Amino acid sequence: MAFEGLSEKLNETFKRLRGKGRLTESDVKAGLREVRLALLEADVSYKVVKDFIAKVTDRCVGSDVLESLTPAQQIVKIVNQELTELMGGSNARIATASKGPTVVMMVGLQGAGKTTNCAKLAGLMRRQYGKRPLLVACDVYRPAAITQLQVVGQQLDIPVFEMGQGDPVQIAREALKYASDHGNDIVFLDTAGRLHIDEQLMDELKNIKESIHPHEILLVVDAMTGQDAVNAATAFDEALGIDGVLLTKLDGDARGGAALSIRAATGKPIKFVGTGEKLDMIELFHPERMASRILG
Ligand code: GDP
Repeated sequence: MAFEGLSEKLNETFKRLRGKGRLTESDVKAGLREVRLALLEADVSYKVVKDFIAKVTDRCVGSDVLESLTPAQQIVKIVNQELTELMGGSNARIATASKGPTVVMMVGLQGAGKTTNCAKLAGLMRRQYGKRPLLVACDVYRPAAITQLQVVGQQLDIPVFEMGQGDPVQIAREALKYASDHGNDIVFLDTAGRLHIDEQLMDELKNIKESIHPHEILLVVDAMTGQDAVNAATAFDEALGIDGVLLTKLDGDARGGAALSIRAATGKPIKFVGTGEKLDMIELFHPERMASRILG
């Protein structure tokens, strides 16, 4: 699991604190120093860690210890609350259209898991909310991308709209018409990805955004890439403006830094997480559950 290393370290730290009847200020300091190290080792960015520790220290030093809690429990509680806050506080949902099909534009670098997760998310929407999704092949540069979307669509029995290698804006427009005619109430645009962010890609994505006005732009990033995922999120948000993040490959041995830094770096929430290659391995992101998992 992605957070094993981090949770183990924090657990050890807090176990040591729990063993004490009373905590001195230096206990608190030493404990938080270890939290700081564990977060840095999990590839959380330096600035995020610094701000986090400052906040937690402030609260630990300034707070009255609740009668029902030991000082150590109090620290764990504060760290837990602040981790939850760091990852976005309350749970975020995707925006939906008040009329006509909801349009979700999926963006991301090649290999992040965009195509697979278009299908996964469409499946989740059908399963959990009774939606009737349509997948749309807007990655017109790689014929393999269209085929791949068709394959995953078929596996989940979700229709795929494609027009080969045409103009992505035109394809999206036609797909919306198709969706209205066929009763599809949520449409996922699988857009082009590149290995690196470049201007041409951003121009194309901006063009789709301005022409189609998607209700939601979701960025797909790979948790395994750590700080690079955070950088991608920052770059996409600055160039295009995103509404949220789908963090994939959280099942791998990523150290979890991306999950902890993305919200702080971009102000945009993680909304979904991918937890495996299979097409049902996607979950809503729950910051409070993730915080508890990190703390063990
Ligand atoms: P794209 O280039 O961004 O469209 O990426 P793909 O959808 O082709 O995915 C790239 C690889 O990542 C594929 O082999 C997927 O099966 C894999 N993948 C996607 N999501 C996950 C996930 O949550 N966990 C794991 N382990 N693999 C994933």
